[in-house]
Amino acid sequence: MAKIQMKTPLVEMDGDEMTRIIWQMIKDILINPYVDLKSEYYDLGLPYRNETDDQVTIDAAEATKKYGVAVKCATITPNAARMPEYNLKEMWKSPNGTIRAILDGTVFRAPIIVKGITPYIPTWTKPITIARHAYGDVYKNTEMQVPANSKCEIVCTDAEGNETRQTIHNFDGAGVIQGMHNTDKSISSFARSCFNYALDTKQDIWFATKDTISKKYDHRFKDIFAEIYEAEYKEKFEAAGIEYFYTLIDDAVARVVRSEGGYIWACKNYDGDVMSDMVATAYGSLAMMTSVLVSPDGVYEYEAAHGTVQRHYYKHLKGEATSTNSVATLFAWTGALRKRGELDETPELCDFADRLEAATIRTIEEGVMTGDLYLLSNLENKKKVNTEEFLHEIAARL
Ligand code: NAP
Ligand code: MG
Repeated sequence: MAKIQMKTPLVEMDGDEMTRIIWQMIKDILINPYVDLKSEYYDLGLPYRNETDDQVTIDAAEATKKYGVAVKCATITPNAARMPEYNLKEMWKSPNGTIRAILDGTVFRAPIIVKGITPYIPTWTKPITIARHAYGDVYKNTEMQVPANSKCEIVCTDAEGNETRQTIHNFDGAGVIQGMHNTDKSISSFARSCFNYALDTKQDIWFATKDTISKKYDHRFKDIFAEIYEAEYKEKFEAAGIEYFYTLIDDAVARVVRSEGGYIWACKNYDGDVMSDMVATAYGSLAMMTSVLVSPDGVYEYEAAHGTVQRHYYKHLKGEATSTNSVATLFAWTGALRKRGELDETPELCDFADRLEAATIRTIEEGVMTGDLYLLSNLENKKKVNTEEFLHEIAARL
């Protein structure tokens, strides 16, 4: 059989530990035999980031802007323990943070649903996609402890030097304060990313904040979404038969729990952080989630939502067989290949991605799975396989 041809290269960002091992296995067993893979390779593994003073991460993000589609392996964000382990020059920043800052995007995470793994909320028969704003709020805050008998104010100095002051609180006893911000530009790009993704996937989109309490801050988010929707998206949404609506976060939570899924839930940064963990856990596991960063100008970076599965890697290094779930990493590849196929108008590539995903789901639904899913599955004839066997089982069905 002739291999499927690609027109434009994918940006390939390799990573660390167990996911780096899985990365190579996926290419060897499931991609290279069928696709004449064109990729521009960037090694984001920690040793090479250290060697290049992290320049390789910046180069990979710039290449993503140029080509439009990237696939990224999980990477180590170094902490103190990694300094001697990898003999690091510096405690390099999170590659995901660096890439997000360059691409300016929103992260979309959706569960991969398979029969035999029942969500904790049984009505959730379709995926709920969380769209998380990845800039500002409490993640870029300024905070302090204040001593007793303090007056705390918020001061804004404009370009002419005029000051606007408001009292936060007059403290009798000791306490704490916090200042945070967001920008119209970032909120606008968040809104456009969400609306584009909804059109792309033909799903309704819900957005919720606490604007009844936060009448300026959260209200600004609500207004920007509404303005952009009315001006740029309303007609496209009506033509696609999908809906945008805004509601209060309390109401959204109640509706989400009672829903059957099948929509996108746009969340401010903190809400998205917390709610995506809740949604992932309720559906089963982080290894069964897709994750994609979408920039406002239509650049896509696909990744797994989990980390480098460090403990499994140490077992692997000792020569022991591991049973690590490769589904999220594999779906990062299929997501990127499908998007490349859509942009290049190469339907064979999209079709291949669809078949590879279907073969993966069929493998698990026929009872063949890795250890993490084996613990969750309620299938009777289930069988636990190791990391590499699982990929060969998919290949046999593909
Ligand atoms: P992790 O790699 O997600 O692993 C946490 C635990 O979850 C694992 O020990 C394993 O449990 C289970 N697990 C996660 N993914 C799994 C999979 N695919 N198959 C089977 N089990 C899986 O998180 P971490 O241990 O907190 O972080 C490890 C490294 O990953 C850190 O250096 C961190 O910086 C990095 N990280 C990277 C990203 C990213 O690049 N996107 C995200 C998060 C963390 P058991 O050991 O009990 O089997
Ligand atoms: Mg979290």
